[in-house]
Amino acid sequence: MSGDLHMSPDEFRRRGHEMVDWVADYFERIEQLPVISRVEPGEVRAALPAAAPEEPEPFAAVMRDLDEIIMPGITHWQSPHWYAYFPANSSGPSLLGEMAAAGLGVQGMLWATSPAATELETVVVDWMVDLLGLPTAWKTTGPGGGVIQMSASDSTLVALVTAREQAAAPTDTLVVYASDQTHSSLEKGARIAGYGHVRSIATDAEYALDLAALEQTIAQDRDAGLTPAFVAVTVGTTATTAVDSVRRTAGIAAREGMWCHVDAAYAGSAMICPEFRHHQDGLELVDSYTFNPHKWMLTNFDCNLYYVADRRPLLEAMSILPPYLRNEATLSGDVIDYRDWHVPLGRRFRSLKLWFVLRHYGAEGIRRFIREHVRLADELAARLEADDRFELVAPHPFALVVFRHTDGNAATSELAKRLNDSGRAAVTPTTLGDISAIRISIGSTRTTAEHVDQLWSMIDELA
Ligand SMILES: *Cc1c(COP(=O)(O)O)cnc(C)c1O
Repeated sequence: MSGDLHMSPDEFRRRGHEMVDWVADYFERIEQLPVISRVEPGEVRAALPAAAPEEPEPFAAVMRDLDEIIMPGITHWQSPHWYAYFPANSSGPSLLGEMAAAGLGVQGMLWATSPAATELETVVVDWMVDLLGLPTAWKTTGPGGGVIQMSASDSTLVALVTAREQAAAPTDTLVVYASDQTHSSLEKGARIAGYGHVRSIATDAEYALDLAALEQTIAQDRDAGLTPAFVAVTVGTTATTAVDSVRRTAGIAAREGMWCHVDAAYAGSAMICPEFRHHQDGLELVDSYTFNPHKWMLTNFDCNLYYVADRRPLLEAMSILPPYLRNEATLSGDVIDYRDWHVPLGRRFRSLKLWFVLRHYGAEGIRRFIREHVRLADELAARLEADDRFELVAPHPFALVVFRHTDGNAATSELAKRLNDSGRAAVTPTTLGDISAIRISIGSTRTTAEHVDQLWSMIDELA
């Protein structure tokens, strides 16, 4: 084997242009593709060799296998017919920002390892405070601050670890509270952080945290000699987008000396529109907040924002300074080293894609996008409500509609299966207590009124 194996700038340019065409072609035909992959388990793996190549292969061979082996195994999250889970939006500017970040390939763990990676992140997380109407004390100029992490799960873990370090009792006596609708990442984080107890608190008729039940459980735990340490509030639960009361829960947390964490992973994006902010009234009372631009804000995974009201406990919990990371800028205390704001050391230049998105769409463009999906969800909900065959099982404050067939669980599950088998929609079947329901999450980048009309026609036909 001889010669330079690296892709020359010229070859990269050529292949890069081909790849951009490939993605653009994909976007053009995505609507035609069956939304959910139809491969059988093991099919993709069986089509691939058991061993990695010993010798270099032509790039064209890689592209051919991308088309022939990988694509059939793709479920098209970017399809306008995507209504499953929550959206995981991608968009042109986001992708291009991602490409620039990959091209630069910097590790932004310290300010000193690439100053712009840190400073752009600071600017973007501070911009978002104003854009979302979050407490101004959460800006870097205040006592708090924000950071871009990989996922809401990571942020919740970091909140749990920080709260654990603040708590004045042995870890195995510490108790975490959250509603029975809380995302599974809370329980997982509590387990990893070593909390002794996690209480799953009952919810009310609208699937929001039952505060009387919370207070009662706290009192029982106090009587048992345990230490209430952490409560999670969800603004927009995963199953139904139920909204817990931030203000009232934070009040209980303050009285009990607990950390109050808000998980607005999905719904946080809607807060760019002032009319949704009443759903998180009371944020000035909480300790930490997380939301995912990588769900509903046109920024491809991964991009999670984590804010704290006071950055000192976070930094105390997360900072370690080994000799090889010592540098003048860090020691001067004049710069931010974001490695101290999350679990990993290395970090991608994630702010770049969010910055591209904010500048390309402008806040007004993003508002229009969010409002249109909420309007479409309201419209679909009205159609379902007006039809005797269906009933809504929960309120729809954002762009998720959860409904059931009035014939019962079997009919509901059958309808979800028919919709998903059609290739023209992806929806998520779920259960709430003993009720089967279908989640329709409207929020994909390319979903328009026309697509939701088509979805309604299918529901009407297949029910
Ligand atoms: C999606 C979601 C999460 C998990 O988000 P990741 O970024 O994938 O970890 C957490 N909480 C809620 C309410 C969610 O909807």
